[in-house]
Amino acid sequence: MTQALTTSYTAALEGRAVARLDRVSKRFGKTRALEGVSLEVYPGELLALLGPNGAGKSTAISLMAGLRRPDEGMVRLFGLDPRDPKARLHLGVTPQETGLPSELRVYEVLDLVQAYYPHPMPRGELLERFGLVGLERRQCGGLSGGQKRRLAVALAFVGNPKLVILDEPTTGLDVEARRALWEGVRRYQAEGGTVLLTTHYLEEAEALASRVVVIDHGRTVAEGTVGEIKARVGLRQVRFRAPEVPSLEGVSKLERENGTIVLYTSDSDAVVRQLVQKNVPFSDLEVQSVSLEEAFVALTGSR
Ligand code: ADP
Ligand code: MG
Repeated sequence: MTQALTTSYTAALEGRAVARLDRVSKRFGKTRALEGVSLEVYPGELLALLGPNGAGKSTAISLMAGLRRPDEGMVRLFGLDPRDPKARLHLGVTPQETGLPSELRVYEVLDLVQAYYPHPMPRGELLERFGLVGLERRQCGGLSGGQKRRLAVALAFVGNPKLVILDEPTTGLDVEARRALWEGVRRYQAEGGTVLLTTHYLEEAEALASRVVVIDHGRTVAEGTVGEIKARVGLRQVRFRAPEVPSLEGVSKLERENGTIVLYTSDSDAVVRQLVQKNVPFSDLEVQSVSLEEAFVALTGSR
């Protein structure tokens, strides 16, 4: 009975997915970019695909956007093969890298892209949403890195899409440009839009996502709410000098580096409290965030 209920519930959800990878594999020569990855994007959610460089994020996106064909498995976009242009009518995409023609002015680029869509978003509204007001007449070549990226992302929204896919929208941007972008994305989602974005910043997933899927080496390694994922990959390093350490709770890995002890934990406050309570004679205490790459090494022991 439970089995039947679970199965029908899953089937109902699957039917609702706006985009889906089903046991998809993709190789480039000897590189296995994706190995049996299944992924669904549901209406109205903001799904973050999180993973270190080379994990397979852009490959997953190129498959969903119909730019590549899987070696194995099935890809669906609004229930259709994404290589069918009808499937892509309600999709907006910003690839990881986009070239903007440097001679064209911002308003000219927006007008050019708007011409492809029957019901485009008015130019003024796009400029306002992505913090580009006042830059309409600027040539693209004269925009800063952050302004260029905001324009590239704004272009994904021009056609009033139902699903927007953004590949590392904020990599390399300063805090201000990042926040302006986050605002535009949040507003779209608040109005009922669906978003799939890739990032290798845990903070970005935390700021935006309702759900997170973590991939590494072409495989799904974790899936859940931001809180659940943070507990797994949001590790910190607690470093200090001490002759000995007693066993401590909440430590996922311990290393020794020439007299310095390095502990990996998702709750550095609790670990420091234990050091004090257990009278560990520590000195030179430091607490540092760990990159996703280091978190994977600490969690899996190898890469
Ligand atoms: P991510 O976007 O997570 O950084 P990618 O999907 O770009 O990862 O890449 C996954 C793996 O596939 C990497 O090892 C990358 O070098 C390889 N790869 C991606 N695209 C190509 C390609 N066109 N030719 C050869 N190898 C590729
Ligand atoms: Mg990529």
